[in-house]
Amino acid sequence: MKKVVKFGGSSLASTRQFKKVGEIIRSDKTRRYVIPSAPGKRNDKDEKVTDMLYACYDAAAAGAAYKKILSRIKDRYLEIINGLDLDLNLDYEFDRIEENFAKGIGRDYAASRGEYLNGIVMASYLGYEFIDAAEVIFFDDQGNFEAELTHRELSERLEHVERAVIPGFYGSKHDGSIKTFSRGGSDVTGSIVAKAIHADLYENWTDVSGFLVADPRIVKDPQVIETITYKELRELAYMGASVLHEDAIFPVRKEGIPINIRNTNRPEDKGTLIVESTCRKPRYTITGIAGKRGFCAINIEKAMMNAEVGFGRKVLGVFEKYGISFEHMPSGIDTMTIMVHQDEFEEYEQSVIAGIHRAVEPDSVDLESDLALIAVVGRGMKATRGTAGRIFSALAHAHINVKMIDQGSSELNIIIGVKNADFEGAIRAVYDIFVTLEM
Ligand code: ASP
Repeated sequence: MKKVVKFGGSSLASTRQFKKVGEIIRSDKTRRYVIPSAPGKRNDKDEKVTDMLYACYDAAAAGAAYKKILSRIKDRYLEIINGLDLDLNLDYEFDRIEENFAKGIGRDYAASRGEYLNGIVMASYLGYEFIDAAEVIFFDDQGNFEAELTHRELSERLEHVERAVIPGFYGSKHDGSIKTFSRGGSDVTGSIVAKAIHADLYENWTDVSGFLVADPRIVKDPQVIETITYKELRELAYMGASVLHEDAIFPVRKEGIPINIRNTNRPEDKGTLIVESTCRKPRYTITGIAGKRGFCAINIEKAMMNAEVGFGRKVLGVFEKYGISFEHMPSGIDTMTIMVHQDEFEEYEQSVIAGIHRAVEPDSVDLESDLALIAVVGRGMKATRGTAGRIFSALAHAHINVKMIDQGSSELNIIIGVKNADFEGAIRAVYDIFVTLEM
């Protein structure tokens, strides 16, 4: 049994957090490959080391004073090193960083040092081998991740390494320069390493006990999702639910390696297991609810629209011309509605309307703005009758008017459109009917 364990910034923000992480790793011998993030915030007012590194480098590049910020960054590591009683000195590393900043080495290098240094500290603390991600994770000259090359080199390198720490978030291009993934990218590194060693499990340790059924800012103390499939996760993530970097899914999904989201501050919690497919029945009819505000509906009406072949294509062609992607397209016999992101649409609003008039000569084109879309997602809905009925009666009881409904053909999700102002009320009503009532 082999596990890859990734720890996020808040799990490694201080000596205290490092000790918790040490205990977690030592309590299970199969936790053999460790991916650390850079130290995150210790409290709400604190700064993430990655943000400090960006600010420090930007100051250096602008010719402004930067050494003070660099010494504050160094202090963050010294606090951890001293707190853990490690025999480790980072002077050499910081001198090199300072030299490289002065040379204008680049923002990606700067940001990556947070993980790099934390990797050195972690390896020293655990007594594991340190492997610089620049030697095993590769990007092409355009900065695209090179999956095959990385997989080959990384598998080969790790084949004879029993235990190792590999810092998250970055790798290198062919010219040796450092390149990072987008923010939160240590999740991606963890996934790549899990694939390379054919891990049985990829544990992703963070500061929440897994994915929640609904946003805790909207629903008080929502339940944790025990098991979720990749497809369900994608639906929820697309609608704004976030715990994991989107690109972290692809490497492990193909290999059938499950991801387990765990809480460093509550290691006794089982967290959320993300799997390709499962026979496990979900605890509730729905797996999760997520949503976004800020949509606009373009309602097009034309008598005998149904008889006009090519009507839909011509309308969508107008949106394509202006590079606007549409989210949903509910239609009636003589009506058709296109839902788009309001901020994407606003700039071209009048041109799009004029374009539709020219393309299909409709009787009318109306706009309705400030709408929200809510996705109710669950593999359990397929086997259950009356899910849509329950959603609508819950919303009716909450005096919420439903503007649009769209059920995906996979029966994995039902999308509802409501006014922005009803967004939170609608989420609460759906949560109550499926979770509170089914508890
Ligand atoms: N430290 C990086 C960030 O703050 C990457 C990560 O934490 O995954 O985005």
